[in-house]
Amino acid sequence: METFSFSIPQNVVFGEGSLKRLPELAVKTGGKKAYIISGPHLRKIGMVDKCAEDLRKAGIEAAAFTETEGNPSTDTVKKAADGYKESGADFIVAIGGGSPLDVAKAVAVVVSNGGEITDYEGAGKVRVKPVSMIAIPTTAGTGSEVTAFSVITDHSRNYKLTVGSSYLIPEYAILDPELICSVPKNTAAACGVDALVHALEAYISLAASPFSDMFALKALELIGANISTYVADRADADAASAMLLGSLFAGIAFSHAKLGDVHAMSHPVSAYFDVPHGVANAILLPTVVEFNAQADKGKYFDIYKAVSGKSIDRNEFSPEMLVELLKNLNLSLCIPADLKEVGVDKDKFDAMADDAMKSGNIAVNPRKTTKEDILKLYLKAYSREMVE
Ligand SMILES: [Zn+2]
Repeated sequence: METFSFSIPQNVVFGEGSLKRLPELAVKTGGKKAYIISGPHLRKIGMVDKCAEDLRKAGIEAAAFTETEGNPSTDTVKKAADGYKESGADFIVAIGGGSPLDVAKAVAVVVSNGGEITDYEGAGKVRVKPVSMIAIPTTAGTGSEVTAFSVITDHSRNYKLTVGSSYLIPEYAILDPELICSVPKNTAAACGVDALVHALEAYISLAASPFSDMFALKALELIGANISTYVADRADADAASAMLLGSLFAGIAFSHAKLGDVHAMSHPVSAYFDVPHGVANAILLPTVVEFNAQADKGKYFDIYKAVSGKSIDRNEFSPEMLVELLKNLNLSLCIPADLKEVGVDKDKFDAMADDAMKSGNIAVNPRKTTKEDILKLYLKAYSREMVE
C-alpha cells in the first residue's frame, strides 16, 4: 500500500435542527461581531435576519453582505472584504450554496492577509491563518464547508481561479438537512450531481488513498440511492439528510484526493458562459467517464455498484454500463443534454482548453490528458446529436 496522510481539522455539527447551535459555536470562536455572507434569496426569505437575531440574543452583534452571485467574481470578494473591514466584525458566518461559501473563504483570506484574492491564486500561498468561519451549506452540495478551496471568477480574463490552502477549511460547519428542503428542483439536481462528481473524481484520482476512498465510496452510495427521491421531493427529510451527508463525505474525499478532468473542463465553461457549476459538471461527466475508461483499474465497477445499488459480478460489468447509468441519471433529473443547450460557443474551445490545462486537477486525472484530448472532449460534449 502506498503511503498517505490525512487531516480533518474542521468541527462538523450534523442533523435536523442543528442550525440552532449557531450562537453556541459563534461564542466558541471568541468573536464579538459576526459578518454574515450569504445570497439575496436567503436574505429575502428571512434566513439571514433570523441568524443575526439568534446571534444577538447570545450577545454577538452581526452585519451582513448578501450580494453574492452564482460563479462569484473577484469584484464581489473585494466588495465583501471592504464591507467586513468597515463593519468591525471579527469572524465570518457563511450561509448558502457554494457561492457564498467560496466568497466567505476568499474574504477571510483577504482581510487576514491583505492584498487581493488574486494574490493567493494557486496552492499554499496563504501565509496567515484567516479569521474564524462558521459555514452553513443550504445545498447538497459543493462540500465547500469542509474543503480547502475557494473558486472565484476573474472576469478580466474569463477565468475561474482556485485558492487552495488548509487555512481555508472553515473552523465550524453546521449541516442542517432542514435547510436544503426548499431549494428549487433544478438547483437540487445540479448540486446533487456535482456532489456525485466530487466523489467519483476523488475515487478515481491518482491522489486517492484508502482514507479518501472510504469517504468517496460512501458518498457515491448515499447520493446514488437518494438523488432521484430528493430531487423529486426536496421535503423528503430522509433523502435530504442522506444527500447532505453524501455531499459532506464527497467534500472530505476530494479535499484530500483532488478531482479530475470534469472539474478542469467545467470551470472554463462556467467562466466563459456563466453556466452553473453543477450543470457544467453534469453535462461533461459521461463524456469524461468514457474517456477515462481506458485507465480504469477496477474502480468503475465499484462506482457502478455504489451508485446503482445493484449487486452484479465483476465479469458482468463493462465501463459502458457506468457511462449509460450516468447519462440516464442526467436525463431523469432534466439536466441539459449538451454544452450547446446551455449556450456554449464552440469558438471559445481553444481558449477554454488552454485554461482547463492550467487546472491542478489535470495532473491527478487517471488518464493522461493533453490539450488535444480536452478539445475532443469539449466537442463531444457540445452536441448530443453530433455523436449519436
Ligand atoms: Zn464541483
